[in-house]
Amino acid sequence: MTTFDVINPATEQLVRTVPLADVEETDAAIARAVRAQRRWRTVAPAERARLLRRFADAVDADLEHLATLEVRNSGHTIGNARGEAGNVRDVLHYYAAAPERQFGRQIPVEGGVDVTFAEPLGVVGIIVPWNFPMPIAAWGFAPALAAGNAVVLKPAELTPLTALRLAELALDAGIPEDVFQVIPGKGAVVGERFVTHPDVRKVVFTGSTSVGKRIMAGCAEQVKRVTLELGGKSANIVFADADLERAAATAPYGVFDNAGQDCCARSRILVQRDVFEKFMALLEPAVTGVKVGDPGDEGTEMGPLISAAQRETVASFVPDDAPVAIRGSCPDGAGFWFPPTVLAPVDPGSRAWREEIFGPVVAVMPFDDDADAVRIANNTDYGLAGSIWTRDVGRALRVARGVESGNLSVNSHSAVRYSTPFGGFKQSGLGRELGPDALDAFTETKNVFINTQE
Ligand code: NAD
Repeated sequence: MTTFDVINPATEQLVRTVPLADVEETDAAIARAVRAQRRWRTVAPAERARLLRRFADAVDADLEHLATLEVRNSGHTIGNARGEAGNVRDVLHYYAAAPERQFGRQIPVEGGVDVTFAEPLGVVGIIVPWNFPMPIAAWGFAPALAAGNAVVLKPAELTPLTALRLAELALDAGIPEDVFQVIPGKGAVVGERFVTHPDVRKVVFTGSTSVGKRIMAGCAEQVKRVTLELGGKSANIVFADADLERAAATAPYGVFDNAGQDCCARSRILVQRDVFEKFMALLEPAVTGVKVGDPGDEGTEMGPLISAAQRETVASFVPDDAPVAIRGSCPDGAGFWFPPTVLAPVDPGSRAWREEIFGPVVAVMPFDDDADAVRIANNTDYGLAGSIWTRDVGRALRVARGVESGNLSVNSHSAVRYSTPFGGFKQSGLGRELGPDALDAFTETKNVFINTQE
């Protein structure tokens, strides 16, 4: 049997060894999911809603356990990990309202009555990355289950522990057996099988753009539905008229949260030229003040990177001759640590400016005016998130409309909200998760005409 050793990234100690599924086990799980879904879709809407609320309550009751598990598995700070478990609870509560509101339409037509139904797809395969194991899983499984689908979910190899616990909690809460299954395994084995198996009717993939393209191409073979949430290289645009103190004080948290392993990380800071020097002076204490250390300590603001390999990748963006303007501190010794790092001035052709780093490294560049800011922000294949700092509300809206990105915040670096849509423009993704319309991505519209003529 193939297994995977889950390592605590803050200590490099073994946490647990997890068996990895092979293709036969994946097929068996999918077959069970097909049978379970036939029953699940017939569960009365109010009962499906009640079971999802009970699942949410079970997550809430287990919140501290889930959070500490995530600290050990992923090195997330305890504060963040609690927020992530709470997010799973909230997403479940939000979509628990859906089964009883899954309205169709009645459309006026000649000679009869025309109605539409939002039918579940069947079995949905969800593939999750390692950076936010709990929330990203829930953004897929909560609306998928609410819409009457069964779910097979593959966590990332590095971070399976909280997903496995969530599957136990679902069962404890009364979600019927095999309606929600978590299958740890390799991307090339379990993930690929979700793409190729004809009984998996949709793939929800969150991860790198390169794997996402491959998944989209594979799904095309069966015209399989697909939602993609991919990488980012988001801009944090600071105008001269902004509250510079706040913009500088918050900029590190807009990019270094989760040690920069965040698809929404504002990893390019664009600062209006007249205030560039002033902003950099304000940024320095903000960056060196970020508390990096044991993620289990209540006061810690940034933990380690997920793995030695990830640290190596991040380090490759900061070679010895890199233009390091500010460098924070981090522990040495065991653990995959990397200090918060600010690069400036950067060459617009450099890897650090163009590629997703997925670590605590940010590059800063000056701009001249609104048009220049929008041009620089859009000069990337990505388009996931971004922030705009200005006191001029008209400019804020103009620039927000101009930036080709799915999620923008003005005078904040707001996190993803479960009640609002989330997803990317361009190569950051396809489709939207969360918010009031997410159910559409897990249902097919069926039109039925009933002849009423004699
Ligand atoms: P990854 O693409 O390497 O892996 C993501 C998942 O896909 C893992 O579960 C992996 O096992 C699986 N996988 C790998 N190869 C596969 C294949 N051939 N077929 C099917 N599944 C396969 O990404 P990662 O390194 O785990 O995560 C980091 C990336 O995820 C970053 O690029 C980041 O920006 C992106 N991300 C995006 C969002 C978003 O919502 N847009 C959120 C978080 C992370």
